[in-house]
Amino acid sequence: MKGYVSIPKSIYCKPCKQCGCRPIIALAGIEGYVVKCPKNNTHYTTEAGIIDIEDWNIHNTKLYEDVYELKIKNNFK
Ligand SMILES: [Zn+2]
Repeated sequence: MKGYVSIPKSIYCKPCKQCGCRPIIALAGIEGYVVKCPKNNTHYTTEAGIIDIEDWNIHNTKLYEDVYELKIKNNFK
């Protein structure tokens, strides 16, 4: 596919929490860029705009997921 840029190794970014792939930067039309999983479009993708690796990292942190799941479980108690 066109418009894909791999993220330089010098930039810290977490692997996709669902499949473990290193994310890529993709051009999302006139809106800007997204950071996304190269394997699957349903995995987390940042909002189009500036390249937001921080947002990607936050959403692909296992701890974040655990805390989120914990909250859901507590709500159903
Ligand atoms: Zn993925």
